[in-house]
Amino acid sequence: MFVVFLLLLWGSLLFPPAAYYVWMLMRIRRRNVSVSVNFAYQPYVTLIVPTYNEATVIAKKLENINELDYPENKLQVIIIDSSSIDGTLDEVKTFLNKTNFRFQIILLSEKERLGKSHALNVALKYSAGEIIATSDADSFWEKDALKKAVSYFADPSIGAVTGKEELINLRRGVYTLSEGVYRKFYYNLRLGESIIHSTLIFQGELALYRRTAFEEFEDAPGYSDDIGTVINIVSRGYRCIFIPEAIFYDTAAFSFRGRLRVKSRRSEHLVSGIIKSLKLKIKGRLPVMWRIIFFNFYLHVISPILLTLAILATAILYFVNFNSLWFLGLFFILLLIKKLRVFLISYITGNLALILGLIPFITGKRSNVWKKVDEMRLKNYNF
Ligand code: GDP
Ligand code: MN
Repeated sequence: MFVVFLLLLWGSLLFPPAAYYVWMLMRIRRRNVSVSVNFAYQPYVTLIVPTYNEATVIAKKLENINELDYPENKLQVIIIDSSSIDGTLDEVKTFLNKTNFRFQIILLSEKERLGKSHALNVALKYSAGEIIATSDADSFWEKDALKKAVSYFADPSIGAVTGKEELINLRRGVYTLSEGVYRKFYYNLRLGESIIHSTLIFQGELALYRRTAFEEFEDAPGYSDDIGTVINIVSRGYRCIFIPEAIFYDTAAFSFRGRLRVKSRRSEHLVSGIIKSLKLKIKGRLPVMWRIIFFNFYLHVISPILLTLAILATAILYFVNFNSLWFLGLFFILLLIKKLRVFLISYITGNLALILGLIPFITGKRSNVWKKVDEMRLKNYNF
């Protein structure tokens, strides 16, 4: 009886996500995002980069922005710093003094650190762009990423566009490889969802928003500037899409602790967003298919809980029937295969992070300010 329960439990972990993945792959194969892209459309863009203690990377980030392939009189850059204590602003000023920066640039400084979304909203007041782009100090764009992403806004139905992350340090170790595996699944889902209508899951490292499609970045505790804002935009009837050809480079955490820290915080944002999308859908205020909302809820909220149950139940069964030593043996032999090991680590750490991300949601201890992960900002990373 218990064995049947266990099989059902593992089955419920395997089949619904697999079904969703296959569905998305079929969508991807059948057609492209039905949007009229126009490269001649080059509106005025404001690119906001919020910083908190980014002295190690900010000069490199500015160098990267300076190389963007976009008309000089069509891009405004705003750096908004929230009282960094590591000399971030000095780094910016030194860089600007010795460089011929091609675009108009505004430096803003907040007296108090109130979180990323808050900073973005301050910058928004100074922005002149028809399109508002955001990026992080520790992520770097491909030269043509902006141009490619902007071209989608020629279609008036598009409210926001996000791009694809390539990991600079993918081969560093099992945890970076795990992030690579996660991203591979993740992007196929995002692309499938975008082809159907919209994806609600955005990455603020490369995100563009139509100015008239939103008032402010979502700044409620526990929500994120990217996912939180995008849900509001979709709820207004715009499409928000992921486009794989707009590429940015970023690092993945390479230690267990670093990975869990960054992923559990991002998971908190994901979980808040997905639960909000479910509520909006119930109220009939989200033009995204029920199935997509449901599967995302299943993957990010239900699955991690089921996985915890499944592991516990399997462990109990195992210790009660201790004669099944072959099972443990088989498990360890399978772990010798590196690909399987990486996949398993990706799956387990991802779900663990989702459970951790659920906790602030349940306890109500939600915050908009986080501690950055230093191992994702080493000076010697090159992309
Ligand atoms: P992660 O990539 O999800 O780990 O997030 P990061 O820690 O890299 O933060 C994303 C961006 O937001 C970085 O450029 C940070 O410097 C910036 N950031 C984070 N918190 C704050 C804040 O309180 N104020 C400002 N202005 N920027 C912030
Ligand atoms: Mn980052």
